[in-house]
Amino acid sequence: MKGLAGKTALITGASSGIGQAIAIRLAQEGCNIAINYRSSPEGAEDTEEQAMRQACGQVEECGVSSFLVQGDVSKEEDITAMVNAVVDKFGSLDILINNAGIQEDCPSHELSANDFDNVLSVNLRGAFLCARETIKHLLSQNRSGVIINISSVHEIIPRPLYLSYSVSKGGMENLTKTLALEYADRNIRVNAIAPGATVTPINQEWVDDPEKQKVVESHIPMKRAGESAEMAAAVAFLASDEASYITGQTLFIDGGLTLYADFREPWS
Ligand code: NAD
Repeated sequence: MKGLAGKTALITGASSGIGQAIAIRLAQEGCNIAINYRSSPEGAEDTEEQAMRQACGQVEECGVSSFLVQGDVSKEEDITAMVNAVVDKFGSLDILINNAGIQEDCPSHELSANDFDNVLSVNLRGAFLCARETIKHLLSQNRSGVIINISSVHEIIPRPLYLSYSVSKGGMENLTKTLALEYADRNIRVNAIAPGATVTPINQEWVDDPEKQKVVESHIPMKRAGESAEMAAAVAFLASDEASYITGQTLFIDGGLTLYADFREPWS
């Protein structure tokens, strides 16, 4: 399947985890990929190497190109420069994946304004600014486009000790819906995916500890954590024309985590 041949995608925070898997999967679909990283390029180079190997195999020129682009999504000037660099390189930008994200734990009554702002500035303000610059570009070329926000089950499940993270993902739901409504008649579709617990570096604490992982998985109806490739598969679908009539939606990919698992066993 080469469902995205000739398109160009920018994936933020693509040097690891879900962003890396998305970049690889979109390249396999024939899409040119702009791989954003915040500071050091090593992870992004690894993404590029894997993506090109899996998209092209032994073939040197397979119609897929890649581009590494530095940018801190908490900085407005970086985002403007990043989107301009991608458009200069490829001539257009069709698909934006707002993936970059951070989380910090702290009792809410001790959370500083600064720490709260830091998480919001990456997860929500960064996603808004990347979307704004991408939409500006799409409108200027009168092109259709796709924006996919990487939200979380914490878009709807409150998460004590992670107030800023929960708030950022809750806000992402409205970012997705409002942009979807505002630009639907310009053929710009805006959707989100909401992963459940997924094996990535953001979850180092339990990924590296089989006992803790068992506890995490005990809350999941399907009894296992998700893989980044499972998130990337849904993103590839939402980015493609197979999803041409879907906008403003969040697709939960969580092994049933949001199904109120406590109701599985009868209470009486
Ligand atoms: P990850 O830590 O591997 O990926 C996050 C990426 O964002 C990293 O590559 C990091 O360098 C990048 N990043 C952080 N701050 C940045 C900034 N200011 N500018 C640019 N890039 C920045 O973890 P992940 O699990 O792959 O997370 C990807 C997304 O998935 C996040 O938005 C996260 O909230 C979301 N998510 C993850 C899970 C999970 O269980 N892993 C669940 C739900 C949602």
